[in-house]
Amino acid sequence: MTDQLDRGPARTAHADVVLASAGDRGVLCDFYDEAGSDTYRDLIQDADGTPETREFAARLPEDPGPVLELAAGMGRLTFPFLELGWEMTALELSATVVTAFRKRLAESPSELRERCTVVQGDMSAFALGERFGAVVISSGSINELGEADRKGLYASVLEHLRPGGKFLLSLELTKPVEAEPVERSQELTGRSGRRHVLHVKILPSEELQEITIHPADETADPFVVCTHRRRLFTVDRIARELGQAGFDVVAREPFASTGTGRDDMVLVEAIPREVTADAK
Ligand code: SAM
Repeated sequence: MTDQLDRGPARTAHADVVLASAGDRGVLCDFYDEAGSDTYRDLIQDADGTPETREFAARLPEDPGPVLELAAGMGRLTFPFLELGWEMTALELSATVVTAFRKRLAESPSELRERCTVVQGDMSAFALGERFGAVVISSGSINELGEADRKGLYASVLEHLRPGGKFLLSLELTKPVEAEPVERSQELTGRSGRRHVLHVKILPSEELQEITIHPADETADPFVVCTHRRRLFTVDRIARELGQAGFDVVAREPFASTGTGRDDMVLVEAIPREVTADAK
């Protein structure tokens, strides 16, 4: 059984406030479902994953063969990976996101299209009948999973690595979480030029982050409010879990995912632990 957070839209306190003022125009949805897909595409489709992809690419084993990307989303990293010449299998849970990914792929040059396989699946329990030279997962995605599902993720990854294969994860460099809930709002401009309000609330006691996104234009009709909840944890915790799951963490390299030059992420490289004769 999954311990993933709500598969439907989360009723965040901030969503309640803005929906109350929108009245009949208000629509509540999850950021990754059909009703949220317009907002998702407006904010994420053109997000540039190239700096993050380069960090992964630098750590891929030599001649890895196909690379498996988990929770691939709209391909923020998959497309730069394809452009760098790798062969990719992109696994993603959300049917809406998979459809949008396939559309984007169909509109890409055949030279990229031919090197990409798209699979709808759950990263916490998958069986693709194939092994990969590397399994990669981008920042934020592991935060979708609860503890039991993360165990499922690590076990599934072990089953899909070739000898010499690597599990590469980019993780957000999170600050120690404050004791009190913290809230902040900022305005973002989407690719359409529309303005969106992003409201984030951190709930330390529950180790959760609540995200609410809605139009900056208070008269928008429909007034679509997208919410999502994700878990918060430190790089140390994930490294410890990987160790318990049978991996050796061989590198933890901070890097800057944006042009600011400020390190905001860590690239974690894990390899399946060799079982020595003594340990058998
Ligand atoms: N990798 C993409 C990127 O960097 O833009 C997407 C990252 S986004 C933070 C997380 C993605 O994980 C979403 O597309 C969501 O639908 C997907 N997801 C959530 N739970 C999942 C699961 N159990 N298995 C596979 N994908 C999942």
